[in-house]
Amino acid sequence: MASRAPVSVRSAAAGRPAGRATGRATASTAAKPDETTRRRARAIAAKLAELYPDAHCELNFSNPLELLVATILSAQCTDRRVNMVTPKLFARYRTAADYASADRAELESLIASTGFYRNKARSIIGMAQELCARFGGEVPDRLEDLVTLPGVGRKTANVVLGTAFGVPGITVDTHVLRLAKRFGWTTSDDPVVVERDIAALIPRKEWTILSHRMIWHGRRVCHARRPACGACGLKELCPSYGIGPTDPQEAAKLVKTKPIDELP
Ligand code: SF4
Repeated sequence: MASRAPVSVRSAAAGRPAGRATGRATASTAAKPDETTRRRARAIAAKLAELYPDAHCELNFSNPLELLVATILSAQCTDRRVNMVTPKLFARYRTAADYASADRAELESLIASTGFYRNKARSIIGMAQELCARFGGEVPDRLEDLVTLPGVGRKTANVVLGTAFGVPGITVDTHVLRLAKRFGWTTSDDPVVVERDIAALIPRKEWTILSHRMIWHGRRVCHARRPACGACGLKELCPSYGIGPTDPQEAAKLVKTKPIDELP
């Protein structure tokens, strides 16, 4: 991808008054971790940066509305599949008003291959109607506003904030949640608590890119079932080393080598 946002999007991010992101509130409410935990967390984050220097959002978009729609479509779907659907979709619907007045059956047919298309179409139309009614047709750049939109949870909101607006955010998807527990960064299954726990360990400016790197590592190496511990670049640092095969050859077979946007 692709978070190949055009200059206008990046400029919008750069021009935003500081301190509007609600991620800041998340960090401020976190319990203070001990220094050893913090030091190890930063070592893991640094190693992830080394392992995945090119990590980024795989969804194609050219403005915040497109990213919001693509992120809604990405639920239970690979990024590659979403990227196959969006060129036609984005050409057909250019503004929130276009989506708000969309013919539901037509929208459903355009997004059908992403799965759960009825729910997704309902979310997209509802989200766009709210954008028109309450935000002048623009995607808001605050977490507390984004999460009031139909189909937009905290995870989607943080993707949009971090990737389209440049506001640091921790995206707690299934991979980030699993890895945070394995790294010993959290003991919770509650995404809000996990977000808070990670925020207490990692500098704010790294939140968005760290989320991407954790997602990449989760997709490729640290799988839910049978993580490839013996072939993992974090094996010297990870407190969960050994929960998957440690034999290097056996572990290497578990590493997913497909392009990242084809992995769930
Ligand atoms: S050592 Fe194992 S559990 Fe730890 S990050 Fe690597 S694959 Fe995951």
